[in-house]
Amino acid sequence: MKGRVLELSVMATSLKQAVHNLHKNLECPVCLSFFKEPKILTCSHTFCKACLETLLESRGELLCPTCREETSVPGGDVGRLQSNITVRSLVEDVETQGQTESLTSHKATCVQLEELLNRIRPDEELPRRTAE
Ligand SMILES: [Zn+2]
Ligand SMILES: [Zn+2]
Repeated sequence: MKGRVLELSVMATSLKQAVHNLHKNLECPVCLSFFKEPKILTCSHTFCKACLETLLESRGELLCPTCREETSVPGGDVGRLQSNITVRSLVEDVETQGQTESLTSHKATCVQLEELLNRIRPDEELPRRTAE
């Protein structure tokens, strides 16, 4: 019985962590708000369509703000880049659900969120430089 309670509390903690991570993953690194019409670059980083349009206009080419890799934009139209449907639906979910608390108390949603989180890989795998 004790093990079961522990298990549940571990689950609750990891769900809270999941929701926290989720919110971070849904933030555009350029405008620092939730993604709007998220588009995937060839380097697999995701940004809002509007943010990419601004970048493209100001530079005449699309360099990833995170890793500097160039993405060729078909016809110069950012709208034709691949949409990140997973991120988009997550943003919709979060915005619909509103508060974090209502998310954590909604078990079914959380299980789904955790599954989805496993599919989204944030930038944490980028090599991190340590001071030498
Ligand atoms: Zn943005
Ligand atoms: Zn990138």
